[in-house]
Amino acid sequence: MKEFFLEKSNSYKYYKDNYEKLLEENNGLKEKLKEFEKECPVCGHIGTDFRSWPQIIHREVECPECLSHERHRALWLYFKRNTHLLKNGNKLLHFAPEPIFYDLFKDSDIEYHPVDISDENFRVREVVDIQDIPYEDNYFDVIYCSHVLEHVKDDKKAMSELYRVLKPGGIALVLVPINGISFEMPFDEAVTLENEEYNTPELREKYYGQDDHLRLYGTDFKDKLTDAGFKLLSDDFIKKLGYETIERYALIRNENIFECTK
Ligand SMILES: [Zn+2]
Repeated sequence: MKEFFLEKSNSYKYYKDNYEKLLEENNGLKEKLKEFEKECPVCGHIGTDFRSWPQIIHREVECPECLSHERHRALWLYFKRNTHLLKNGNKLLHFAPEPIFYDLFKDSDIEYHPVDISDENFRVREVVDIQDIPYEDNYFDVIYCSHVLEHVKDDKKAMSELYRVLKPGGIALVLVPINGISFEMPFDEAVTLENEEYNTPELREKYYGQDDHLRLYGTDFKDKLTDAGFKLLSDDFIKKLGYETIERYALIRNENIFECTK
């Protein structure tokens, strides 16, 4: 038995060590594999080894190098195409700061406010409850709030707070998981599902797709933003990137970046 495993691991090592050589020797294979290659615009990683999560409907999710997910890669492209947002001392409010964007924002020419409901994450500089933001009206030029609202008890209040602290003409980028796009749940995709009785991790997982989510947004999410006062500038940034870019960077075609103003 021991020999069997030894032989197996040796052959694995052989293939691993000779992967590039084998590809060189099999030109057709190399070309074929290229078709499946993905590229991460954040860190530049190129390969066929983007990892996926079984419960989510897409094939490629996480970059093995920088751990970016689809939405991070899409937002990265958004900021690279809208560099004016990260200039001229703009005031930027960033909820639940992800490492990728923290690094980008902290090195930009902006007044940067990485905040969260707790300071467990060392990147957080100020504890802020999104339902009661301790800043004056019309303070921020840019607000970036991705996959936060589904964790917040009073999301209506949170959205009205985001609206209140945004400057007229400023940009708020809001993302949430949406039924039929981020999750495939057997409920009406047009209507946000929220029921006080789904109050255990098991029930939340079952109905909302994740045990710490408090609702499952439907396509009516954009109405919630406009009800809070926002003017929706666009929600199809990703779709407009075109098929080849979406495939190459392993993005979700239908995922919405809600680009709002006031
Ligand atoms: Zn990456």
